[in-house]
Amino acid sequence: MQALILEQQDGKTISSVQTVEDSRLPEGDVTIDIDWSSLNYKDALAITGKGKIIRNFPMVPGIDFSGHVRASEDPRFHAGQQVLLTGWGVGENHWGGLAGQARVKGDWLVAMPKGMDGRKAMIIGTAGFTAMLCVMALEEAGIRPESGEIVVTGASGGVGSTAVTLLHALGYQVAAVSGRESTHDYLRSIGAHRILGREEFAETRPLEKQVWAGAIDTVGDKVLAKVLAQMNYGGCVAACGLAGGFALPTTVMPFILRNVRLQGVDSVMTPASRRAQAWERLVRDLPESFYTQSATEISLEQAPEFAGKIMNNQFHGRALVKIA
Ligand code: NDP
Repeated sequence: MQALILEQQDGKTISSVQTVEDSRLPEGDVTIDIDWSSLNYKDALAITGKGKIIRNFPMVPGIDFSGHVRASEDPRFHAGQQVLLTGWGVGENHWGGLAGQARVKGDWLVAMPKGMDGRKAMIIGTAGFTAMLCVMALEEAGIRPESGEIVVTGASGGVGSTAVTLLHALGYQVAAVSGRESTHDYLRSIGAHRILGREEFAETRPLEKQVWAGAIDTVGDKVLAKVLAQMNYGGCVAACGLAGGFALPTTVMPFILRNVRLQGVDSVMTPASRRAQAWERLVRDLPESFYTQSATEISLEQAPEFAGKIMNNQFHGRALVKIA
């Protein structure tokens, strides 16, 4: 099979597409022929070596994939069945999706939901799945379209784009925070009703004028601190990312004076039942237009180039990787 292999040379991460014997696949009870994978922020960190995502080399990156079961020792899966996978450390400490085949635990797989196919599933990928979990978190906090405006940060990225699209489709008014003028037309086309520059989120006071009923934050640091200070009384922030940094320079004021909820969102270890629920919602709520407006299809060979673009904030939407 062909695989993107990451190796270390003089402390640097080197990536190359190589032909690999499938006997080198890691242990697992289901072997999958991969059709599609995608590039997420974490993949970009791993492939470029800019983040300490991988500790054991050589490694096949790719934190998500979709494909067909080739062989299974798990009775829940049979040969030919379509499946998808996101998270569980695949592509980090277990060979991942940027390869012709993968071997994983059956527990990590999701049977392809009705109404979904492998290509669409990887246009959504980990990023889109996480956006859905964030929307569900806001709903569970009682935030409804009539509650008020929702702000999405890092809006032109993978999580951000899917969040804007989903919220708009569900009837919410969505404000997008973006560091790039070049993506404004794109953000309007997917449903942002207004766009704010990232620079407006550089400084904050402990409490500011109340603006947002809800927020989905993919950026962290000062941007998240500003969002918290601007939340309405009783609002909720679903925080899933750190594209701007892992710090959180805030105070307790939004929490104790405005009853604001900060809900963390993790997609890697999400239990199976909640995964199934999120994928069902994606089938139902994500409009067909998303798959054309937000996807760029690339080859396995192009993955390192596009990982570089993601790291340099030169890519928007989702990078779909064609494997088969
Ligand atoms: P992308 O690279 O696709 O999007 C990130 C976006 O953040 C960019 O498009 C950009 O948006 C903005 N951004 C980039 N650099 C900076 C910066 N220095 N300061 C402020 N904003 C910046 O990544 P993903 O959408 O795939 O992931 C977003 C974040 O969410 C990442 O931190 C990722 O690790 C995290 N994540 C977490 C998951 C979880 O399970 N908790 C799952 C998936 C992702 P713009 O140009 O519009 O400003």
